[in-house]
Amino acid sequence: MEQKYIDEARQGEAYYAPQADVAGQINKKKFYIESYGCQMNFSDSEIVASILQSEGYAATPRFEEAQLVLLNTCSIREKAEQTVRNRLQSFRKIKEQQPSMLIGVLGCMAERLKAKFLEEEKLVDIVVGPDAYRSLPSLVAEAEGGQKAVNVLLSREETYADISPVRLQSNGISAFVSIMRGCNNMCTFCVVPFTRGRERSRDAGSIVSECQALFDAGYREVTLLGQNVDSYYYSPIDGAPITFAKLLSSVADLSPLLRVRFSTSHPKDITDEVLHTMAAYPNICNYIHLPVQSGNTRILQHMNRTYTREWYLHKVSRIREIIPGCGLSTDIITGFCSETEAEHQDTLSLMEAVKFDMAYMFAYSERPGTLAARRFTDDVPEDVKKRRLNEIIDLQNQHSRQSYAQDVGTVCQVLIEGDSKRSATDWCGRNSQNKMVVFPKTHADEAPGTYVDVKILHATSATLIGERNG
Ligand code: SF4
Repeated sequence: MEQKYIDEARQGEAYYAPQADVAGQINKKKFYIESYGCQMNFSDSEIVASILQSEGYAATPRFEEAQLVLLNTCSIREKAEQTVRNRLQSFRKIKEQQPSMLIGVLGCMAERLKAKFLEEEKLVDIVVGPDAYRSLPSLVAEAEGGQKAVNVLLSREETYADISPVRLQSNGISAFVSIMRGCNNMCTFCVVPFTRGRERSRDAGSIVSECQALFDAGYREVTLLGQNVDSYYYSPIDGAPITFAKLLSSVADLSPLLRVRFSTSHPKDITDEVLHTMAAYPNICNYIHLPVQSGNTRILQHMNRTYTREWYLHKVSRIREIIPGCGLSTDIITGFCSETEAEHQDTLSLMEAVKFDMAYMFAYSERPGTLAARRFTDDVPEDVKKRRLNEIIDLQNQHSRQSYAQDVGTVCQVLIEGDSKRSATDWCGRNSQNKMVVFPKTHADEAPGTYVDVKILHATSATLIGERNG
């Protein structure tokens, strides 16, 4: 769950091709892809789209007209998997009408269940794990031949570095760039090490080239993605090893007009070098997503998070010393195995001490195959989990309201991303702290991709409302 969860609104988002090349798609075989879960999964769907396009497939926004329907799945909580199972059932009717249609499942749930997915969900023809997307064309050929096709081999090398992602559902301004895959941490509650394998860092040169190509194509923001970006470490054949701080500065050096964000950091690995690099580059955004998970050291040890409450608070103070005003968000799990009321209170008091701008908050959901499922009892009653989660959400809403209210009267630089969801007479875009800003369209020089200064007039707990400044 390190990877930042894509907002509920985007879950199950379907991919569709830019209008421009619809004409050329008429006679091509079509694929339809839906993505669930985190940014990494959405980024992987862009790799899959690229692999299929190079096999002559064209994308469609309507699954009814696709020969190949793909769900890129998430396994982070029981609810995420149930969502996929329900979605599969909605394809039952069309599959009966079009028996040649192939249905494939990708991502973490596919990797967790492997061939068992085919037994549990008869509609499914193809099961592909996160490291096996290159084999998709041959698996499709196998399934077209009437076989069920599975490839869930995890790799220690695969980074898809040579595959140019096809930007899905893109606003043409900001894009995800995956810099590494897998995770070597073994947090006891987490499925990721089992569904995405060991950690491997992508060739730094290919990352910088992808960012340059995005900038040349008009993008003005990249988010560097990894389960734990702070442990990025690439050893080129010739030359010195490249750490995350070095990679950050290489990308930021491409152009002062290219904003750089990254996700997700790990409290045990984030270094002062990274923080000083952020402080040195105005175009590296002052925002860090730093999952804490719990405010109690015994629970952190039970989760195998490898840091203490005190260590986390020290990291937060370093961030605020080196980057004053840095935006901070986090992940919190409540009701983890054996968590006492007092330990829950420690999480609330840590939130009070830090005052996060935003947080992803969940009740513990036991995941089959994880260390916690094998070693611990999921003994916190559901009603207690629920009450604790509500207390955490209430406190966070308070802190978010305070954080946004403090911005009223200030001026911030906003990268325009497009029309506000609420009104086409307003622009929306985020400031460096990753806060969404909405303001009326007033000047001819405004367009998606331009930077403007906005004076903040009002605030809700999730949006800043302002007007063009000067
Ligand atoms: S094992 Fe820990 S660090 Fe790795 S992805 Fe899971 S929660 Fe994040």
